Amino acid sequence: MAGIEVTSLHKRYPDGTVAVEHVDLSIADGELFVMLGPSGCGKTTTLRAMAGLERQTSGDIRIGPTLVNDLPPAERDIAMVFQFYALYPHLKTRDNLAFPLRAEGLPEREVQQRVDEAARMMQLGPLMDRKPQRLSGGEQQRVALARALVRRPHAFLMDEPLTNLDAEVRSETRTEIKHLQAELGTTMVYVTHDQVEAMSLGHRIAILNKGRVEQVGTPLEVYDRPASLFCAAFIGSPPMNLIEVEVVDGSLRGPGGLVLTPPAGLSRQRDLVAGVRPEALEVTAPGAESSVPARVVSAEGLGDEIIYVVDHGGERDLRVRMPPTVRFAPDALVGLRHSGATPPVYDLTTEELVA
Ligand code: ATP
Repeated sequence: MAGIEVTSLHKRYPDGTVAVEHVDLSIADGELFVMLGPSGCGKTTTLRAMAGLERQTSGDIRIGPTLVNDLPPAERDIAMVFQFYALYPHLKTRDNLAFPLRAEGLPEREVQQRVDEAARMMQLGPLMDRKPQRLSGGEQQRVALARALVRRPHAFLMDEPLTNLDAEVRSETRTEIKHLQAELGTTMVYVTHDQVEAMSLGHRIAILNKGRVEQVGTPLEVYDRPASLFCAAFIGSPPMNLIEVEVVDGSLRGPGGLVLTPPAGLSRQRDLVAGVRPEALEVTAPGAESSVPARVVSAEGLGDEIIYVVDHGGERDLRVRMPPTVRFAPDALVGLRHSGATPPVYDLTTEELVA
């Protein structure tokens, strides 16, 4: 097994498109590392460069201690799983699994041993004698994962492997991948544009934007302290409220008098934006202590919570997450207050975290 180091990675395609501007990543041995970002941010290109399927324009890739820049994919000892299952349609599950091992020339006894082990881990028992057309999408993807497993690679690289599955199967397969990675302890790099998937899977997450890494951190770190306004808007559903604030008499003031606790070490007074999670705000009865007057625009009940959209003092469409027991109707005049921890604060111009 092995960690993966990516240093100063840059990729320009022949048509001049710069897909990866500059990427540094340090992925630990045994880590489940997620690359997250919107379409076109360079995730797939970075992953394909790790796999050796795309040659970078400049920069280095190391798998374990080995510099792999000049190694073809087959010599990098990694296994890749794509969003399309890519099984051989004419082969039964057991032969699909055995295929890469027979291609390597492994003795048949070992082939069978490894196939049986992967089948057990991915619970493929009843599917072993079926061809792909008799498997559901979720089952095909489990076979594709098992086929990556049998090779016992240094690392798994996964490119949106669950995209084509429906919500329930996706969530089940995600849990399986997580357990599998924990059981094997094999380094895994997992690409997705789905922040929920990233948060639930990753030991750490790298958030990419326009070919650059904006932040690397644990799910909690990127949720609590997004490194930039881009990350703040990308992580969380509904996303953080981004409220323009200034420092007045030692506290952060938003429009309409909303008061927030300033973070320590804030040296600027104005041109600041506070990132306030919907659960850090509270809709109250009008006139409640520390509240400012606000109006409910809409209320969306989700069963276990209600998401209110409120306007107040010129600040429009703030999202507030409340327990389902609190109910205010649209157009109700209410109070709004900050009830959460100190918010992260950003520079309005550079869009970066300042405190
Ligand atoms: P998605 O989630 O949509 O797959 P991504 O974050 O994985 O996006 P990439 O596929 O790495 O992004 O693409 C990054 C940029 O490079 C995009 O602007 C894309 O159009 C461009 N690109 C990708 N492959 C090529 C290619 N072969 N030739 C030219 N440009 C390319």
